Amino acid sequence: MPDIRIGQLTLYADHGENLLDTLLAAGQNVPWSCRGGYCHTCLIQARPGQAPDEASTMLSPEQREAGWLLSCQCPVQHDMDLRLHDPARDDLSAQVISVQQVNEVLILRIAPQRPLRFLPGQHLTLWINNQLGRPYSIASLPGEPWLEFHIRLRSSGRFSSAAADLAVGDRLFVGAPTGALHYDLEWQDRPLLLLAAGTGLAPLQAILRDALERGHHAPIELWHWSSSDCYLAERLEALAEQHSLLSFNFRSRLTMGEDIRQLRIASRRTMALICGDPGFVEQLRKPLFFAGLAGRQVLDEAFHSRSQ
Ligand SMILES: Cc1cc2nc3c(=O)[nH]c(=O)nc-3n(C[C@H](O)[C@H](O)[C@H](O)COP(=O)(O)OP(=O)(O)OC[C@H]3O[C@@H](n4cnc5c(N)ncnc54)[C@H](O)[C@@H]3O)c2cc1C
Repeated sequence: MPDIRIGQLTLYADHGENLLDTLLAAGQNVPWSCRGGYCHTCLIQARPGQAPDEASTMLSPEQREAGWLLSCQCPVQHDMDLRLHDPARDDLSAQVISVQQVNEVLILRIAPQRPLRFLPGQHLTLWINNQLGRPYSIASLPGEPWLEFHIRLRSSGRFSSAAADLAVGDRLFVGAPTGALHYDLEWQDRPLLLLAAGTGLAPLQAILRDALERGHHAPIELWHWSSSDCYLAERLEALAEQHSLLSFNFRSRLTMGEDIRQLRIASRRTMALICGDPGFVEQLRKPLFFAGLAGRQVLDEAFHSRSQ
């Protein structure tokens, strides 16, 4: 029976038992959200070398080297020495500099204590306190003086409700940027098809702006489906006035099924990027495949949320 040591405390787990379950059953206050390895809320630090590969492959090389692992993905196979994650100690502090609500979306800007390295399209975990953290895509570009996030407001959502009460000057903590959505310079002369639902627009508009800054010169077509008017329409339309390569389709979620059936791929060389809720991402994979796009031409990210 492997021992799990946290400071002076020793817990016993059955071989192969899930680490998060063990910790929660023992009354440890470990925050968690998706339980699928996507959200990085249940981070724990083990002694380097103690984390099984499957519990750390989704983390950055720096995090893995420092012994961080995702407890929801960790089977306990041998003794472990753990340290619970504390955002105030382990992450970067940031101050709220503006909060604006547009339709059902909160546009939050924060100033981190020091500049953060990330690729447009990546996401990080925002922590309101040491128990409440969720992953959000970074909507700003590295050169901009703030980090921007687009948070869909949900009346029953713990994080989004707390975020709605944030005021200028409040402090948050930000985890390490991660995720595979990005713009690649090799795509400069290939059409881009960006498909977003709701706040899935956050990373895709960042990628779009990054592509323009890096000299993309093929057409970029963006589709956004939303249950109300597109919350970023004004900003994007202003961008389209400066760049003739851009075309936008702001659509209602009610017409999404039909829109997807009508979707045409401009070229066999198109790169498609998809972002939104898991159902939306799943719904698009097949039509893109049947339209002739190979798996390597489609990059997606699903906003998995807390499982009930
Ligand atoms: C990689 C990644 C990036 C993300 N980026 C963003 C982003 O940029 N903007 C953004 O708004 N969200 C994003 N999310 C989702 C976000 O992390 C939270 O899950 C979401 O904001 C809900 O958190 P909450 O605490 O408000 O709700 P919770 O308290 O976690 O959930 C409350 C209730 O709302 C339901 N619920 C939560 N989310 C959804 C949903 N999407 N659809 C239907 N029901 C739901 C839950 O099932 C639950 O019943 C991302 C998720 C991932 C994994």
